[in-house]
Amino acid sequence: MSNSIKVDILEVILKITECCNIACRYCYFFRGGNIDFDERPNVIKKDTIHALASFLKEAILANEIKLLRLDFHGGEPLMMGKKRFVEMVELFDTELSQLVDLEYVLQSNGTLIDDEWVEIFSKYNVAASVSLDGDQAIHDANRIDKKGRGTYVRATEGLKKLICAARSNKVVFPGIISVINDSSDTKITFKHFLDDLESPFISFVELDLTIDELNQETVEKISNNLLAVYNEWERINTPTIVHDISVRNFNDILKQLVLSGTEADKKEKRKYVSLTIRSDGSLNPDDILRNIYPYLFTNEYNIKNNTLSDYLSDEKLKDLYRKLFTLPEKCNECGVKKICRNGWGFGSIPHRYSKENDMNNVNALCGVYHEISLRLCDLVIQQGKSYDSIKHNLF
Ligand code: SF4
Repeated sequence: MSNSIKVDILEVILKITECCNIACRYCYFFRGGNIDFDERPNVIKKDTIHALASFLKEAILANEIKLLRLDFHGGEPLMMGKKRFVEMVELFDTELSQLVDLEYVLQSNGTLIDDEWVEIFSKYNVAASVSLDGDQAIHDANRIDKKGRGTYVRATEGLKKLICAARSNKVVFPGIISVINDSSDTKITFKHFLDDLESPFISFVELDLTIDELNQETVEKISNNLLAVYNEWERINTPTIVHDISVRNFNDILKQLVLSGTEADKKEKRKYVSLTIRSDGSLNPDDILRNIYPYLFTNEYNIKNNTLSDYLSDEKLKDLYRKLFTLPEKCNECGVKKICRNGWGFGSIPHRYSKENDMNNVNALCGVYHEISLRLCDLVIQQGKSYDSIKHNLF
């Protein structure tokens, strides 16, 4: 048995399904190199859900967790079906909600969201987000169903139901998660989300490519796309930094800079752990690493046999975090290293990996991350925050 490790915030990416009703061309889960989903149940079983409630209860008490965020993921999580989903959240509510601040988040492709699902999200406080790549032409280029048909119309119908419910305060406003690829024009996409879908909470995700898979042209296109969104986001949010238009890539860093040096800042720095729990109960690292380190995605640790501390004490996992926290020389000397953290601050880890040097590379998107980090600092200083108060985030 391992000694308990203190964790303030635990975020669990919970694979309630390992199957999907659509077949996106770039899907990292079903179309990446790691096909271990073949060995797991399509839908998490009842006995695994009960074991998970016990595992989490033990972790909350032993690891002194204050906030537990359960991210219901797939595949497509709504393929679990309504009855089983409701039974699951009712169990978690009963077993865990008295012990911890409990948040439910769900990431869907949107195509199965109907009025009944919206009622369920409303009743159990589930914050749902929808994956959408842009307008119909951009979205349908990659996000297709198994018959090759675009899914834009079905996905936006689901999103609109959520937006409508949010306007009458039945659910929290849905977010959009949007993949930036080298062929999309993100400025058009951003405008489409804001003006046509009236959806102001957006998270852009750069395609999960490693340095071995990227070439200079792709890097430039992805960087230009991200910068185009940044320019537009800054234009809309200036002169006052309001949070009406939230692009998570920038707002999370902005929040960190605005709060720096305050009491709230200390709270923000609480120890945070994120992990994936598979549909068979296996404990794995963050999903973003599944195609880089398939050997870490095993069933060696399982909620049925191990505690959270057992898993966090694993030498392979510690080694992974050592690699992620160790910065290459250029980053160590960089003025914005504490904001960017070799891309980690922007949610970008695969872009620093190569077979030859493992994680010991400067992120392929360094140029754009450097520019955006500096401009965010400028923005905060222009708004009256003193340089001294944010400098511990810079050096
Ligand atoms: S901006 Fe570039 S050099 Fe600086 S921390 Fe980020 S990746 Fe490293």
